[in-house]
Amino acid sequence: MKRVSVLGATGSIGQNTIDLLARRPGDFHVVALTGGRNLERLAEDAKRLGVELAVTADPDGFEELRARLAGSNVEAAAGPKALIEAAARPVDWTMSAIVGSAGLEPGLEALKQGRTLALANKESLVCAGPLLLSTAKAHGATILPVDSEHSAIFQALIGEDIAAVERIVITASGGAFRDWPTERLRHATLAEAATHPNWSMGQRITIDSASLFNKAMELIETHEFFGIAPERIEAVIHPESLVHALVGFRDGAMMAHLGAPDMRHAIGYALNWPDRRELPIERLDLARIGALTFRDPDERRHPALRLAREVMQAGGYTGAVFNAAKEVALDLFIAGRIGFLDMAALVERVLDQMASETGVFDTMRLERVREIDSQARRLASEFGTVEV
Ligand code: NAD
Ligand code: MG
Repeated sequence: MKRVSVLGATGSIGQNTIDLLARRPGDFHVVALTGGRNLERLAEDAKRLGVELAVTADPDGFEELRARLAGSNVEAAAGPKALIEAAARPVDWTMSAIVGSAGLEPGLEALKQGRTLALANKESLVCAGPLLLSTAKAHGATILPVDSEHSAIFQALIGEDIAAVERIVITASGGAFRDWPTERLRHATLAEAATHPNWSMGQRITIDSASLFNKAMELIETHEFFGIAPERIEAVIHPESLVHALVGFRDGAMMAHLGAPDMRHAIGYALNWPDRRELPIERLDLARIGALTFRDPDERRHPALRLAREVMQAGGYTGAVFNAAKEVALDLFIAGRIGFLDMAALVERVLDQMASETGVFDTMRLERVREIDSQARRLASEFGTVEV
């Protein structure tokens, strides 16, 4: 039996992971589940899967979680420290599906076990990619990407020499506002931004898809994870969301990865790796689909993509600034305090302000990532309360 834990179990990726685990009850022993404020869901899944430990990130949630688990053998715990302890419980495979930079430290802790980390939490690669990779290396751990694009790249690279890669193309659906005129974007509402044409995901990543901040993060994720130079990484708008990524080689060949827009593919691939097993994924009927279309994104309309390029060029701790400022900008947009287009303006301002102190480093340190993260959050909140 494979021992597994799911961090961020109550979210969209977490629930898709549990769906796959629950389909093969004899194959997995689930050690720990962690969640946020949805204690009902957390407790229900913990009991149903017979896990050892359920942790809520909310320190005030302990009593309620314990009450909900009463009569079961599941241990309850709460707060950030308990979250780290859950990540440190020995397992063979950990799903990192907490949203935001809050996923960084539990992910690092899981890597210290020297086993496999299935990484959906792209923010940790954006804000501390070199630290994540060096921690994995130091402990002999494996990181498997669980973003549809990055799982696709990973699969297209099997058996290939990374030195023969000429370019990597990741696709973007274009999000909720793909077909909106630019003038309308300024007035886009939360409800409009929080619907996705093709994928069903958590609220934050759905809004990031509409602003293309999600794609911007994924460009950086590609650069950090695969070690590919920024100028070799492209994003292309592909409204059908059926081709997830393409890898181009120096002989001109391109390997494309296609599949239905269902995260259970990338999750299941990481769960079964290095094997491939049956997955409950809709099969593509190519004749019915008929055509796949692609077009260049308009970087003036989507400044997030330009910012991502600047972040990759600058290197150092710039990704931590970008991620933290983006998280605050998104909070402010969700709270109705800034407009849709103000998010990119705000992130750019924070990047500019902190540029002189973030570009260089010898060895990335967690303490410094934390400091930069807090400083960028402070600045973003400050700028966000005045005009951006
Ligand atoms: P979600 O909002 O649906 O779920 C997030 C999970 O993290 C929940 O369990 C929540 O309780 C927990 N959480 C939130 N804040 C926390 C905190 N401060 N401390 C501890 N736990 C906290 O998000 P999601 O859509 O499932 O995305 C999870 C991660 O996977 C993100 O990094 C996202 O970018 C990435 N991802 C998601 C998808 C998708 O299809 N949803 C696709 C690719 C990548
Ligand atoms: Mg993705």
